[in-house]
Amino acid sequence: MRVLILGGTAEARELAGQLQACEGIELVSSLAGRVSRPALPAGEVRIGGFGGVEGLTRYLRTSRTEAVIDATHPFAATISAHAIDASRQVGCPLVLVRRRGWVERPDDRWLRLPTIGDAASWIRDSPAGCVFLTTGRRDLSAFSDDPAHEYLVRVVEPPEREQLPVRYQLILARGPYTVDGEVELMRRHHVRVLVTKDSGGSMTVAKLDAARARELPVLMVDRPPVPEGVRLVPDARSAISWLDTVAG
Ligand code: NAP
Repeated sequence: MRVLILGGTAEARELAGQLQACEGIELVSSLAGRVSRPALPAGEVRIGGFGGVEGLTRYLRTSRTEAVIDATHPFAATISAHAIDASRQVGCPLVLVRRRGWVERPDDRWLRLPTIGDAASWIRDSPAGCVFLTTGRRDLSAFSDDPAHEYLVRVVEPPEREQLPVRYQLILARGPYTVDGEVELMRRHHVRVLVTKDSGGSMTVAKLDAARARELPVLMVDRPPVPEGVRLVPDARSAISWLDTVAG
């Protein structure tokens, strides 16, 4: 059985590691190619976009893919929509792996907002002070025209200058992070508010524990909605059970 994993997440790598060892499965993992030194999954890997729904449909047909596991990031809404559309056209079963979102705990001071733009507006209307931005390189530009706040920007890949806020300090890093490290970072930079997307998972959760410890407000940007009618599972284990069923 030929299986395509749409990846770029820890879950996708876990899946590839487990499926790679399964007899009778021909596996390909696909990465968007956004980062220069990606953490590679086990087995065959292809890198780069497919060329929209049309390109992905063509890929699924010509490669004779028999099952698609979309294990992309919860905020990677475009590729997920494309995958659903293309797999329907080809008649190929698809499952969407979405790790659970983070859950607010007692003593947290979260404000849930629907979009990055809402978070940027909230910050612009708030008193001056250091804003810790952990929303990823692609979302930086929402904050780029704010001259009033100092931003501590943490991203995996170096952004273009025009994406960055007017006043910023840049940290290039990739998780996982520790709570002690996050508390120390927030203390050193006098962080006043944390801005994050509700990515979920354990790799980057330490910033939320640190914000709670320092009694800082957190702007939590909600996930894009999951498309209707799609088979949804929360982790790699349940994706493998789904594949078992599909394979009969
Ligand atoms: P996106 O906005 O949903 O997708 C934009 C385009 O990138 C897609 O139309 C597709 O190009 C290409 N693409 C995305 N994921 C791909 C994959 N796994 N394999 C091949 N092409 C892919 O995606 P994004 O938010 O830029 O995320 C890109 C990748 O980074 C994803 O694989 C995701 O899992 C990972 N990631 C994203 C975030 C985040 O916050 N968004 C965080 C961590 C990791 P074509 O139309 O040409 O096919």
